[in-house]
Amino acid sequence: MNDTSGTIAESAADPFLDASREGRLLAAECRACLHLFLPFGPVCPRCWSINIGQRELSGAGEVATFTVYRQSYHPDFSVPYVLALIALVEGPRMISNVIDCAPELVRIGMPVTVRFVPRGDLVLPLFAPDSSPTRNPEPQGENP
Ligand SMILES: [Zn+2]
Repeated sequence: MNDTSGTIAESAADPFLDASREGRLLAAECRACLHLFLPFGPVCPRCWSINIGQRELSGAGEVATFTVYRQSYHPDFSVPYVLALIALVEGPRMISNVIDCAPELVRIGMPVTVRFVPRGDLVLPLFAPDSSPTRNPEPQGENP
């Protein structure tokens, strides 16, 4: 139970990562002002309340900004890959990867939806383009 060998995965008694293993995306929710935020923390960044709970999010969002990594800094990440700031529809923003999309096709404002992807001992919430017609209306017959 108390293995303290010190890896990130083993020390992750983290509701966010635990929920990811179950295929759920969680944000911290301030019980005082209802602000949703990520990453989880003990204090609301808006009102400084310590009365913090959690809420499950839809997993829908859009690319707020991104960069393309073409050099590998970790063997788990093969290049090229997209590091993006995802603006979730409920309000929180989080850093993640955009997957299942060629890096040159990623654009700011692109609708994305969460995909839970095993990486080592973790399951990470990554984001793929959301092509559902309700979220990404495209002109008929026009594909860039
Ligand atoms: Zn608050």
